[in-house]
Amino acid sequence: MSEQTHTGRCLCGAVTFEVSGPAKWTGYCHCHSCRKHTGAPVSAFAGFERDQVRMTGQPLARFASSPGVQRGFCARCGSTISYEGERWPSEFHVHVGAFDRPEDFAPTGQGFPEERIAWLHLEMPAPP
Ligand SMILES: [Zn+2]
Ligand SMILES: [Zn+2]
Repeated sequence: MSEQTHTGRCLCGAVTFEVSGPAKWTGYCHCHSCRKHTGAPVSAFAGFERDQVRMTGQPLARFASSPGVQRGFCARCGSTISYEGERWPSEFHVHVGAFDRPEDFAPTGQGFPEERIAWLHLEMPAPP
């Protein structure tokens, strides 16, 4: 079966991964925790079922940023890679910037808009 595969890696290349098939959803996240974890004014995620994702390099380091939430990153270079939350137990959320082709995952929604930094204005793509 030929399926669309997307690859990604951290900045130093120790953490690598492959994802098969399309994302279930994509979106920006304006939450305070994402901002602190990434150092960026907003984060962007693509959500997948866990069985779509295969980690192919060094294991992720994980930080529990709040109860039931694990944020995955590279232990060597610190790149932010993933989000796993008990609210979405079957899903694995990947920071879009970790993909080799982030242009494949245009965000189509916005999480925690109430926590958006006031000076940040995003143009949203038209819904598919
Ligand atoms: Zn790394
Ligand atoms: Zn967030």
